[in-house]
Amino acid sequence: MEREFLTQFTFENNSCACDIESVIDDMSGNLIKRIALKETKDQTIKMGYIYGSGLKVLGDRKKREKNNVLGEFLGIKKDDIESYKSYFEKYGFLFNTNPDRYTSINTSDLYYLQESLLAFVQLMNNQYDIDFKNSINTQELLDACIFLLFREPKTIKINDSIVFETKQNYIMNIVNNSINHNDGIEGLKYEDRNGQKIGYFEIYDSVFETTIKIDQEKYLKILQHERLPNWCKKLLRVYKNKNQLVKNHKWHKVSDFLYHLVFDLSPFDMYNITLDGIFNDELYKDLKQNKQIFDALIYTSKLLLSEEFQNNLKSVHPVYNVLDMKPDWKLPSLFSAMYFSLFYLDSSQVGLRKCANPTCNQYFEVSKTNSKKKYCDSFTCGNIVNQRRYQRKKREQQK
Ligand SMILES: [Zn+2]
Repeated sequence: MEREFLTQFTFENNSCACDIESVIDDMSGNLIKRIALKETKDQTIKMGYIYGSGLKVLGDRKKREKNNVLGEFLGIKKDDIESYKSYFEKYGFLFNTNPDRYTSINTSDLYYLQESLLAFVQLMNNQYDIDFKNSINTQELLDACIFLLFREPKTIKINDSIVFETKQNYIMNIVNNSINHNDGIEGLKYEDRNGQKIGYFEIYDSVFETTIKIDQEKYLKILQHERLPNWCKKLLRVYKNKNQLVKNHKWHKVSDFLYHLVFDLSPFDMYNITLDGIFNDELYKDLKQNKQIFDALIYTSKLLLSEEFQNNLKSVHPVYNVLDMKPDWKLPSLFSAMYFSLFYLDSSQVGLRKCANPTCNQYFEVSKTNSKKKYCDSFTCGNIVNQRRYQRKKREQQK
């Protein structure tokens, strides 16, 4: 097979037959559409990760057809069930299903997986690199971190076996469950200020790497504030009591970062988290100017990157291919193969770029140093945009 010698790993997916079914949703009573799919016996799709161009189907392909496993999945719009269907017909499903009967999948589950993967791509794409800070898109980085920290945990089962599971994040678990009966007393110190005895707490701030003082009165006032959301109060409690509550010290900086984000920059609605702009534009600018808080964001993003890799690659095993005498990997699913393609992405040299066709949304791999490539595919997206431009020009000339 052509180019196979250049691949870092290969993966064989089962192909599937795919339909759209309409059912009454148990929860809402509304009519909803679902994907129903069944594996096609004895038919597989062989893919490989090719350095610099991504995960692709190997072997003969139809001419002019896009071949970009990860990028096309990320580009599917919310609730666009037809696009999910054609994607699975082309590349097979994300997980193994049953070849003997149809399995039904909700589009909301598919979209959750897509957003989780996109958040991960945004973290990969916005780490320190050649241009240091200038090429980092603060909005993408911050939104992705907040998404991965605050998303509702989800378990997806197929035929009674769990194929995907998000763990509640370590630090969010502590924040959500923090209750402290000795809140205003624990660690209380006193000092004399103008003849008055004032109670205060000393807190080590790992973002600013210094010890700060908060007066007991101010602390209790914030905890009793009527309009401040409960989870923000819990965040303050963890900020103050992290030595007792956060046993794993590498997360101290993350909880302190969240504290500064909410109390110094902007509170936000933790139940309304999206990947397209949680905050207003000013906040993203302010954040970039604020060196310590920005560094804490980078720190947080790196911790989340390693967590996500660990969680999504936990079932990947090394195997040895004795036929070719080559090392290889056993991947449990297409979804893990997509994460694994990012594992092999050399992010200092190669990045994922969003297609410049505004109706496309797909991502593609490009060299960071010398590529001016704007479109995921020059035949489809490049041509569409060029034609639009040409027609607009023609209309303007006719006026
Ligand atoms: Zn495109």
